[in-house]
Amino acid sequence: MVKRERLIEKFVNLVSISSVSRNEKDFKEYLKKEFIKRGLNPEEDNAGEIIGGNAGNLFIQIPGTVDASPVLFAAHMDTVKPGEGIKAVVDGDIIRSQGDTVLGADDKAAIAVLMEVYDILREENLLYPPLEFLFTVAEEEGLKGAKSFDFTRVKAKKAYVLDAGGSPGSIVIKSPWHNEIEYTVYGKAAHAGMDPENGINAIKAAGRALAKMPCGRIDEETTCNFGVIEGGKARNIVADICRIKGEARSLSKDKLDRLTHELKEIFVSEAEKEGARAEVKIESLYPGVNLDKESEVVKIAEKACLKIGLKPNLTGTGGGSDASIINGSGIPCVNLGIGMSKVHTAEEYIKIEDLIKDVELVLAIIEESIKESGSCV
Ligand SMILES: [Zn+2]
Repeated sequence: MVKRERLIEKFVNLVSISSVSRNEKDFKEYLKKEFIKRGLNPEEDNAGEIIGGNAGNLFIQIPGTVDASPVLFAAHMDTVKPGEGIKAVVDGDIIRSQGDTVLGADDKAAIAVLMEVYDILREENLLYPPLEFLFTVAEEEGLKGAKSFDFTRVKAKKAYVLDAGGSPGSIVIKSPWHNEIEYTVYGKAAHAGMDPENGINAIKAAGRALAKMPCGRIDEETTCNFGVIEGGKARNIVADICRIKGEARSLSKDKLDRLTHELKEIFVSEAEKEGARAEVKIESLYPGVNLDKESEVVKIAEKACLKIGLKPNLTGTGGGSDASIINGSGIPCVNLGIGMSKVHTAEEYIKIEDLIKDVELVLAIIEESIKESGSCV
């Protein structure tokens, strides 16, 4: 089945080609070549132009060998910094970086796994439904690649992103809706010593408003935060402007909508009590995921885990991923734990055993989805 050395080699090769967010061109070219070599037709979209990067998302449609519903698998091509000149070190049972960069198992472990899966499907003449592979750019910069992808091209009605922490077997079925909130408070400048009566202090108004605002953990599903504040021009000028950046997240869309409304209303009315005017800009960063445990996409993942001896662990997370965008496009999608550890640090590593399990898991998902489609295997 899985050829351990070949899989390690694939992974080590992939991480050696830099692909820091919006600089994925070399990596994307390499992947394109590899899939063309395998007789496939990888298509690049124009996401690079849209987001100011040098590469687009790669989308590969693989005809099936059996008449069953198509399945989408997705992973991201980009890495965080420091991600130039990564050299993977096979160190006993794990693969790590040399210590001066990330490893890039996030998310190249997933890409190596999907390449290995495709090689196994072909060399063992296994049956598979039409498969779709989506490799996105700039995931680490706010899911920008996935947000620019045209999901009407996708035929699959279920999808698996391979981009979650946690061991193979962990299946993320819940993640939050997430809003970014930006406040701008306008006051009136005046000389602080000679003419303060004529000024309106935007910092004071912002402070008054913030003191009345909910912040931190709101309930078990909901949080909010103010992360940046800046304003004023000089010590001796009544501050005429103050800007605050904040955010709110919740696993419940209703709760997030209510909280966001409150965060706006309270702020505006409190700032006005100081004579200032506040503008509030709200942007949805990504939609939430809240999949039914009984839904097909989840059931198939669970059965696949059990089939290869993994205990399925249905779980939630506090952040977004490409799975948020895929679900938002109307395609039910779980995010699978692939065993990558200490991601976004120079200590990032992955166990070789987990890489192998990931391949087995994807193969099992493919097999289970054929069964679910009612085709004979
Ligand atoms: Zn990732």
